[in-house]
Amino acid sequence: MLFLLAVFVYSATASPMLIKHNSIWMLNLEALANHENYTIEFHPVEKRLSLKGNSSEWVFVVGFPYFLHDGKTESLSAPVYLEKDKVFAPAEETVKFFQKEFNKNITLDTIKNLVLFTDLPKAKPKPIIPQTSKKETAGTREVKTIVIDPGHGGKDPGALGKKSQEKDIVLSVAKLLKKKLTKEGFNVKLTREKDVFIELSQRANLANKWDGDLFISLHCNAVDGIERQKRTEGYHFYVLRAPESEEDKAIARRENKVASLYGDKEAKEELSPLEWFKLEARLEKYKQNSYMYTEELLNSFNNNGKIKQLGTGVGGAGFMVLVGALMPAVLVELGFITHPKDENYMNSAKGQEDLANRITKSIIEYKKAVNDYRKTLQH
Ligand SMILES: [Zn+2]
Repeated sequence: MLFLLAVFVYSATASPMLIKHNSIWMLNLEALANHENYTIEFHPVEKRLSLKGNSSEWVFVVGFPYFLHDGKTESLSAPVYLEKDKVFAPAEETVKFFQKEFNKNITLDTIKNLVLFTDLPKAKPKPIIPQTSKKETAGTREVKTIVIDPGHGGKDPGALGKKSQEKDIVLSVAKLLKKKLTKEGFNVKLTREKDVFIELSQRANLANKWDGDLFISLHCNAVDGIERQKRTEGYHFYVLRAPESEEDKAIARRENKVASLYGDKEAKEELSPLEWFKLEARLEKYKQNSYMYTEELLNSFNNNGKIKQLGTGVGGAGFMVLVGALMPAVLVELGFITHPKDENYMNSAKGQEDLANRITKSIIEYKKAVNDYRKTLQH
């Protein structure tokens, strides 16, 4: 069997059916979806893939060595794995589960001949409406008030480029956003309207005071070292969750540190495991909406933008500015101020206009998605 697998893995082109990862053969799950005529849905922010048939649903989450079959947990010998936008699970076991379930003659050999999609169809996630409270709060009610937080300001310039400062770029984009979103009928608040220093905790407090429905903190990314600066570019979005990589951790530390450097007494660079635990429970009800909004951002930025997507486009980390916000929240790194192309674009009138348009579009789509879901609840 393994010999056969090896043959078609090498004959495959852009999107291999099987890959060997940590010495285990992993199967591209779209192959199963195709074979069984399942609908396939991928949630890029949560990194969750579901295969839906007429009578059953299979859910795989990247990084976890198990899957849900109609709500029941089944174990896998290795974690589900994501490579180049394709989701893989341990091959032999996954096929065995399907054989047992459908009593069908499905084998790895039959699967190898199937045609693959070129792109994973992305699903629209649904917001979670908590059942515990009658009072509507941010994330469950109509999306009206948007809080835009231009990072840094005043004595804290943020990251530095060759010819510009992060604090100025994000303020310009924030002002454009205010104009555009107001035109679309949103109530828009900025945590700062000019070049002033505001402590991180104060930004979330303002958002809470204004009772926002969505909190967006705007930033520019940066790396050290001339060689890394040349090759590191692109936008990246962050939701508040335990960091997934050392890079994400480092970016959060950098964004958190600038504030403590400039005298924010409450600023911390990292959260302890216990703090994470408490925080996740407290923010649970906003998490789904934060993910949902971040997917709209990805859709909007992916659509022929001048700035590239960095990696998967989304990460999790402990950004202190998001910690206190009692509403769905995301931190946007528009691009790298340390990359010449990104820096030029983020400083140009055309680039700022484009970035503000993309964010505006993502908010309009998010509002629609929340409204659609609200309608289904009224029946
Ligand atoms: Zn920043």
